[in-house]
Amino acid sequence: MDLCNISVIKSVMADAGISFHKEFGQNFLTNRIIPEDIADNCADTSERMILEIGPGIGCLTQELAMRYKKVVAVEIDRGLIPVLNKTLSEFDNITVINEDILKVDLHALIEDYSEGMPVSVCANLPYYITTPILMHLLESGIKFSTITVMVQNEVAARLSAKAGSSDYGAITAILGYYGSVRKLFRVSAGCFIPAPKVDSAVVRIDLYDKCPFEIKDERLFRNCIKAAFEMRRKTLENALSAKLGGFTKDQVAEAIGCCGFDEKIRGERLSTEDFAVLANHLYDIKTEKA
Ligand code: SAM
Repeated sequence: MDLCNISVIKSVMADAGISFHKEFGQNFLTNRIIPEDIADNCADTSERMILEIGPGIGCLTQELAMRYKKVVAVEIDRGLIPVLNKTLSEFDNITVINEDILKVDLHALIEDYSEGMPVSVCANLPYYITTPILMHLLESGIKFSTITVMVQNEVAARLSAKAGSSDYGAITAILGYYGSVRKLFRVSAGCFIPAPKVDSAVVRIDLYDKCPFEIKDERLFRNCIKAAFEMRRKTLENALSAKLGGFTKDQVAEAIGCCGFDEKIRGERLSTEDFAVLANHLYDIKTEKA
């Protein structure tokens, strides 16, 4: 069954008596080349578990199941579960779980289904919660090998931006701590039903086994980035003095000086590693004076 065929999608949903739920970000793919390409590019070896978020009616799920040993698909919409049980019935390596990905116990899920294999994430993400889902996955502490997601094109640009560019933001700098990000390809809005207002793009994050630079206090590091971008038009010194909390303006200036940055530099010029060095100096200042 071609689950990207518009007539098939409509009839499968009509048979189940359900319609598209906008509040769940339901935009289903209608061009079968796209799920094939995503599945081809989301991991390097087939002996692994793929965690799919939001299978919809299963078009990407079936492509993943053809290429990888095990697929666990977490879908929030209860109405889609009987649909998935039918559309994916020919596969014995798929488990569908009716849960909210932000609430499910990811550690238990992986323990139960991965059989010790490496785990990758793959999803055409619901756009209304792209960043919360990404942060949830990254902050879970689980060693995913790759996270490959379709997101709005402008979000893809942000995730893969270089320091100093207009697309560079807090999420870009934070992501740089977890892994390297590549934009794989763009997908036009016409490839979905219902069609969203903007184009999408697929990005792949290859997570580091170990971050290539040391961070003494992860919370401080993240807070530095958030403070710097909360006031991105201000100098780094002013933004951190106003928003970071716990440091005097002199201490912030001292840390910026220790890094060798210009005193008028803005946070948007700093790479992830620059933020790590800055946060480490702030940490030293705090602990020395404690
Ligand atoms: N994978 C399908 C495709 O590519 O055609 C559907 C993708 S659609 C953009 C997003 C899917 O995520 C929908 O099936 C939606 O119900 C599901 N979803 C939305 N929020 C979710 C959440 N918090 N947890 C799990 N699934 C969610």
